[in-house]
Amino acid sequence: MTWYETTSVARPARDRLTFDLDVDVCVIGAGLAGLTVAREIAQRGWSVAVLEGGRVAAAASGRNTGFVLPGFGAGIEDIIERVGLDHAKQLWILSELGLDYVRRTIAETEMPGVDPVPGWLHISKTDNASRVRADVERLRWIGADVEFWPTEQVREVLPNPRYFNAAHFKNAFHIQPLNYALGLAALAEKAGARIFEETPAIAIDPAGVRKRISTPNGRVRATHVVLAGNVDLDGLMPRLAATLLPVNTFVLVTEPLGALLDETIRYRGAVSDTNRADNHYRIIEGGTPGEKRLQWSGRMRAWGADPRWLGRSLVGDIHRNFPGLGQVEIAHLWRGTLGRTVHRMPQIGEIESGVWVASGFGGHGLNTTAMAGELVARGIVDNDQTWRLFAPYELVWAGGRLGGALAQAVYWGSRPVERVAQAISRQREAARVRKQVRQTARKTPAPVQ
Ligand SMILES: Cc1cc2nc3c(=O)[nH]c(=O)nc-3n(C[C@H](O)[C@H](O)[C@H](O)COP(=O)(O)OP(=O)(O)OC[C@H]3O[C@@H](n4cnc5c(N)ncnc54)[C@H](O)[C@@H]3O)c2cc1C
Repeated sequence: MTWYETTSVARPARDRLTFDLDVDVCVIGAGLAGLTVAREIAQRGWSVAVLEGGRVAAAASGRNTGFVLPGFGAGIEDIIERVGLDHAKQLWILSELGLDYVRRTIAETEMPGVDPVPGWLHISKTDNASRVRADVERLRWIGADVEFWPTEQVREVLPNPRYFNAAHFKNAFHIQPLNYALGLAALAEKAGARIFEETPAIAIDPAGVRKRISTPNGRVRATHVVLAGNVDLDGLMPRLAATLLPVNTFVLVTEPLGALLDETIRYRGAVSDTNRADNHYRIIEGGTPGEKRLQWSGRMRAWGADPRWLGRSLVGDIHRNFPGLGQVEIAHLWRGTLGRTVHRMPQIGEIESGVWVASGFGGHGLNTTAMAGELVARGIVDNDQTWRLFAPYELVWAGGRLGGALAQAVYWGSRPVERVAQAISRQREAARVRKQVRQTARKTPAPVQ
């Protein structure tokens, strides 16, 4: 069981679809993408049905690390290179609107159990201030609200000799994502959407003005279908599913760690300490009032490895970075699967008349699913064309099983290289400190006998 399930708000039992239904829009998948689309469409007065093969937010949307960040999975340099500066700026603004959507929804509806905490610190483990500063400048230039933190400032709140400079995003925040998704489902239903659980869509006939979606015990007819099924769409739309690479990452939550945790990790926001699927952590509260735990995630795998195999490695990662925490016990450990596109940008838009896709959010889905939900709803109801800003990121085959093996090889291959770079940084720093000590010793007058 995940920590989120343990601290979940009450969730109503939702019926299966056992009859035929006519609606304006049928959404397939009740993760954050599908739920946001449904809420936005229902709020605009159209009828909408959501078909969910399992339970609401039981997949990535209810199992993730909970960081709500601006931007996308793709780095801003790659985005500028692909679409040009002005276009990249517009995409960045949309990504920030996604973040604002989540913040506003939580605040305006006083959503219970979501507990937003501000800030995200993205730390470099190699001593390369000029590169981090340049990254920060580039992001500011594109419109991001981000600041450079020098090594001393980072180590003041996270006393870890492996840490150097960082980019600090004070508008980002972290949340309990399952409660956010369940809150969103309740808001969609309040606005008039109907959500059916344990109702997989097993076939779609997209021909004609009214599309037909079959489920085991009922059929939906709709003018628009939105495919928001992430990596699980292979049975229904194998060619769409083949554009996503399923990537598994692992999350643990420790037993309560007491005062030691506060002393060791003095930053309350979200922390990521590499560019790859490595360490992402935060302090979480919940359960018994006042008790604090560490949530730690990382260790990407291209196959569905048993989380128990990864538990020791994750605990090892905690020890390596914060030995002062001593022995930590795992209270919860789970796996989640995200769907990554080749270009690391989401797939958003109308792929044929009346058939829409909102997918491929990768490990950056909390802001981008919100953004996509609004864009698709506006596209369907208001004929708004903003979603076309994502047209340069079309559906690209992700390489099937070979793609997974390659992604894993790149990840493993990069770890030794990163480790060497990090070790060199630490050795250089140690040499600098030794030199300073020697110089100070030379300058210090000998004590008077
Ligand atoms: C471990 C982990 C950590 C992450 N951390 C972060 C983070 O900190 N910040 C961040 O921004 N992002 C993070 N992400 C990514 C983020 O969680 C996802 O990008 C996002 O939740 C995707 O939402 P979704 O709605 O597209 O897909 P999902 O949540 O996967 O939902 C898709 C739903 O569609 C349903 N479905 C599929 N096929 C059918 C069908 N045929 N019929 C009916 N239903 C169907 C599935 O059952 C599922 O419920 C993380 C992901 C993981 C796995």
